[in-house]
Amino acid sequence: MALLSGLEEGQNLPRLMDLYGRVVRKLRISVTDRCNFRCSFCMPETPAWIPNDSILSFDEITRFVRVCSTKFGVDRVRLSGGEPLVRKDIEKLVAQIAFTPGIKHTCMTTNGTYLAEKARSLKNAGLQSVTISLHSLRPERFEKVTRVNGHAKVLEGIRAAKSAGFVNVKLNSVIVRGYNDDEILDFATLAHDEGFNMRFIEYMPFDGRKSWQMEKVVSGDEILARIAKKYRIVPLERERGSTAVNYRFEDGAGGEFGIIASITRPFCSDCDRLRLTADGKLVPCLFGDKEYDISPLLKDDRADDEIAQFLKEIVRLKPPGVESLIKASAELKHVRAMYQIGG
Ligand code: SF4
Repeated sequence: MALLSGLEEGQNLPRLMDLYGRVVRKLRISVTDRCNFRCSFCMPETPAWIPNDSILSFDEITRFVRVCSTKFGVDRVRLSGGEPLVRKDIEKLVAQIAFTPGIKHTCMTTNGTYLAEKARSLKNAGLQSVTISLHSLRPERFEKVTRVNGHAKVLEGIRAAKSAGFVNVKLNSVIVRGYNDDEILDFATLAHDEGFNMRFIEYMPFDGRKSWQMEKVVSGDEILARIAKKYRIVPLERERGSTAVNYRFEDGAGGEFGIIASITRPFCSDCDRLRLTADGKLVPCLFGDKEYDISPLLKDDRADDEIAQFLKEIVRLKPPGVESLIKASAELKHVRAMYQIGG
């Protein structure tokens, strides 16, 4: 891992850099652990919710973002949950973040159930892109895994996102062997025929029920091979720090698809993400076994410089990532289930 210079050209802000020379440019913020779904590869049977009074306020989250952007040049924020749209007045937070100095891109990952009502107000608040989780195209299978008869609502939400003016709407699907891997071609056809950006995500061990097994992981290579049986595809150049490797269809059809192969082709070498949980814990690495509580600094209204100093210290402790764990055949453990980190 080449050591990058501390100061990016054209930018005279110091950077949040770890010991491997990786610079934080993107924040992933879980605004709540609550969700209206109970996806079996995410939620435990009985979720232990974060107490309400521990959840960061919109002003505390925005303060955190402002310190990251004005002190360290962080410019992208992804909001997630649980399900971010269950948080009341979420548009207010979107607007606060979208208009924070230095923030160039504000996006959200949602399960889409409330998008039909909220797509336009989110767009007006300054949200620039939306990613919707869609783990099956079959309503009965969808209901089996989410425990909610919500398939039609999600499809309506996807249409509402497009008509609200969101471009390049991304659809995320976690592929689990024996559950939905027989829909890989259907998802690819959705991208090909309807112009969506379909993202296939390898199943990761963040399920609250601890039922993850390597055997259930369908590798990115296998997903690609299955798609290539039907479509001629062209790989696209990977953006620095991107989690996905993207492809387009050779016949020029509208959509694209991406593969997020966190387990079989991890992308830790240029990881540029830092996560904040809904109760104010910093999670430098998804596969790390540590989290750091920044909420006291935000709740006690400490000085920006104190928060900045804390951030610098924590990012320096960012572990190398899952890539090194897999190389060492170490156990893949995690600090929290996905609904408590937000991906
Ligand atoms: S495992 Fe950690 S270091 Fe690797 S890409 Fe994920 S968050 Fe980044």
